[in-house]
Amino acid sequence: MKQLIISNIPIELEKKRIKNMYLRILPPDGRVHISAPVKMSEEEIKRFVTSKLDWIELQQRKIGERHTHQKLEFVSGDEIYVWGIKFNLIITETNTRQTIGFEGENLILYVKKGSTTEQKSRFMEGWYKKALQQEIPTLISKWESIIGVMSNSWNIRDMKTRWGVCNIRSKNICLNLQLAKKPPKCLEYVVVHELVHLLERSHNSVFKGYMDQFLPQWRTIKKELNGME
Ligand SMILES: [Zn+2]
Repeated sequence: MKQLIISNIPIELEKKRIKNMYLRILPPDGRVHISAPVKMSEEEIKRFVTSKLDWIELQQRKIGERHTHQKLEFVSGDEIYVWGIKFNLIITETNTRQTIGFEGENLILYVKKGSTTEQKSRFMEGWYKKALQQEIPTLISKWESIIGVMSNSWNIRDMKTRWGVCNIRSKNICLNLQLAKKPPKCLEYVVVHELVHLLERSHNSVFKGYMDQFLPQWRTIKKELNGME
């Protein structure tokens, strides 16, 4: 197996006695695997991969999110993430109000007796949302003044395919609820990314130039966010 690097993406290349080229994105880390006909030149393969870069990035993001959106049973022993830290979930029944406590490696979810998985999940989502709400305003105003733009509003949604959305016309920034499970720098990266869209609409070289200027380590964080090293 050969390794190629195309546009910063490592690619495993396997030559086989086949007629067509196959491109696959493999879980759990979103690595790129290509099976190509023996006779095909590296130039041709590079051209093909380059034409598929958007698709590759989308698939890698989906794989990363499948991991994030992992359905929990909400039983003691589940692994649960808060700001990139893995906790061991402990379910404790309570007669008073539902709440969350942290003890070392444990996240203790105090729930009413007989709570369903759905109820526990909804409570946890509400908690994630509050955690994000506490961080977002500071991050937005910090980066608005660094980047020199102004947004109008922001909101949080549980999105399946995107970490953030910037509506350029309304200047609203939408952030993914799942970011509360990722390290804080990931939320910061998405905030910077969406604010930079107020300077440049598309993900072109101008956009990337701004990202390099404002957050030089953005590529590393982006990869981490997409479930890769
Ligand atoms: Zn974008």
